[in-house]
Amino acid sequence: MLQVVRENIDEEKERKQVLRKYRNLLRNSRFDYNEDEVRTIRKAFDIALEAHKGVRRKSGEPYIFHPLEVARIVTEEIGLGSISVASAILHDVVEDTDLTIKDIDSLFGSVIAGIIDGLTKIEHIFEQEGSIQAANFRKVILTLADDVRVILIKLADRLHNMRTLESMPKDKQLKIASETLYIYAPLAHRLGLYALKSELEDLALKYKAPKVYNEIVAKLKQTKAVRTRFINRFTEPLRNSLDESGMSYEIYGRLKSVYSIWNKMRTKGIPFEEVYDVFAIRVIIDTEEINEKADCWKVYSIVTDYYTPNPDRLRDWISTPKANGYESLHTTVMSRTGKWVEVQIRSNRMDAVAERGLAAHWRYKEKSSDALDNWINRVREVLESAVQNPVEFIDDFKLNLFAKEIFVFTPKGEIKAMPHKSTVLDFAYEIHTELGSRCVGGKVSQKLVPLSHVLKSGDQVEIVTSKVQQPNSQWLNFVVTAKAKSAIKSHLRDERKSIERKGKQKLNKALRKYGIIRNDENYTKLIQYYRVMSTHDLFYKIGMDSISLSNLSRLKVERGKILYRPRKKMKLSVEQMVETMRGNKKALVVGRSPKVDYALATCCHPIPGDDVIGFLNRNNEMEIHRINCENTIPLLSNYSYKVVKAKWDSSETISFLAGIKLSGIDRRGIVKEMTTVISDDMHVNIRTINIKSSDGTFDGEITVYVNDTKHLMSLKDKLRAIKGVSKVHRLE
Ligand code: MN
Repeated sequence: MLQVVRENIDEEKERKQVLRKYRNLLRNSRFDYNEDEVRTIRKAFDIALEAHKGVRRKSGEPYIFHPLEVARIVTEEIGLGSISVASAILHDVVEDTDLTIKDIDSLFGSVIAGIIDGLTKIEHIFEQEGSIQAANFRKVILTLADDVRVILIKLADRLHNMRTLESMPKDKQLKIASETLYIYAPLAHRLGLYALKSELEDLALKYKAPKVYNEIVAKLKQTKAVRTRFINRFTEPLRNSLDESGMSYEIYGRLKSVYSIWNKMRTKGIPFEEVYDVFAIRVIIDTEEINEKADCWKVYSIVTDYYTPNPDRLRDWISTPKANGYESLHTTVMSRTGKWVEVQIRSNRMDAVAERGLAAHWRYKEKSSDALDNWINRVREVLESAVQNPVEFIDDFKLNLFAKEIFVFTPKGEIKAMPHKSTVLDFAYEIHTELGSRCVGGKVSQKLVPLSHVLKSGDQVEIVTSKVQQPNSQWLNFVVTAKAKSAIKSHLRDERKSIERKGKQKLNKALRKYGIIRNDENYTKLIQYYRVMSTHDLFYKIGMDSISLSNLSRLKVERGKILYRPRKKMKLSVEQMVETMRGNKKALVVGRSPKVDYALATCCHPIPGDDVIGFLNRNNEMEIHRINCENTIPLLSNYSYKVVKAKWDSSETISFLAGIKLSGIDRRGIVKEMTTVISDDMHVNIRTINIKSSDGTFDGEITVYVNDTKHLMSLKDKLRAIKGVSKVHRLE
């Protein structure tokens, strides 16, 4: 927004204008500043005046007009105090002039320097064109703004820029207007700055869609007389009653903003004429805070004496204010002409809060700048708390402030959103996998830091790489992003594969040397001999040289087959054991085996067709369990010597007990239908049946005698086909 001085300007006249603006700033403030405060503001003014000297805005005005105007908005329209005023006056000096944050710090101290720093960072982000999405901007602003005043001053800055947008070129107008709609208006809304929000929206619409904007403005003008008449007629009986009640009040018709009318037309797809709430009737009562709730309801009762309310459209934001502090009582009533009219009832204090944000609330109570700190804290609470009104807050705000995201810059100023606790290495991987793989460290604010260095929001990071760097498994201990993790893992996998390939080649060469054939049988012998888990393991360990092949010569080999038995019996893993049992033909035969006494485990009720094992229990009895029974795994790992392979005798049909769990929608006769299916259709004996129903649904367990898994499966299918039954499972 800078432009160099033009000729022929009445400098004396301008100097006077600037001074007048400055004096008005002090005079119209809502606070009586003390001497120190006035001195700080004066100092800020002198420094900004000097720093922006000779620079003009696009409009041709001296640049200093802008910071002074922003400061005026900050105090008059938002209600902030001296620190914010001074910061607003200085808000562009670090960005646009030679002064640095350090200078500001030594001149004004750390609080103002912190605010200017936040504002400058935000300015930087907005200079980056394109890539970053609007939703992210909002998060960025909140992340960078340690002090809520940063956001508020930024809003004032944006408001002034919007008010003076006329002098900007068309493309800039569009960009600034869009940003305003996406970022600043919602921010203002969250902070409860309704007046500011509406003005931002209207101005944005004016530049984004001038035709629509002008049309609505024109229509509002055309309909004004009719509207006024209607409002007068509508409010007349209310005035009379309110007068009688002795309350002191204001009642008027309040126009909706152009933007909100347009928004309604657009979202509902209706023409201007059909937007019924182009205006609302507002009743503001002048009352003590202690009586305001009761008085508002008194007004409500008067309004509804005359007009019928729509019960669906009563909004009581007095008992439970909105998260941003908004308090009001809204009702929509039917007018005599058959038109719905919204009536908003609130106290003076509530109205001030609604229009100008919570600042107004504190200002209302005491006209000192102490109250401001209270407000700042309150805003912070509002921003940070999700508890008050979760519905209002389910968006970026909560997400961001609680969460766990930081914003980090590349050396070129590009911004990256990263999870909380991200390290230099995460950042490297975020930019490019190759950069991550070669990363040896980073530079954060010119300081060299290790790979594992944890980043903070606002850090600008340069990655340092080396050609000989390789990812290693240690890296997994400190990276947090999924991207880095999977890249490292995939690298490690690739690396392992190539080592395995090397190992396999080496082994095969050695096998040839000793005349051993390469087949699965021999590989299995080798796995046992070297006590490894799998062929992959074998190849890998050979490739890593942690297995020496020199003792292959000790193996007894005949016709290419390894005869040598493993020296020690290997303890197999649970998976291996289960695997061997599934395939093994020489197993204990369950069913009609006269040689072994066995009992079917009562925990899992195995039936023929299930994969099973036998376990020799303390009574020397063989217990048969299903392999997927939860008791099986500990047996296999702790008492593997007591576990035997087992299989079913398929020659005989015997019945076994199995449990079925079912649930669904209850209805009359459903239990009878189930028992019919089980006993008549399937000829299955029921041992127990237990159905519980509540609230129209039922849950049940049935134990039945079945022959095998196939039998059970078809029973389950039949049960599932009964109307109302939704879930049928075998009891595990
Ligand atoms: Mn500015």
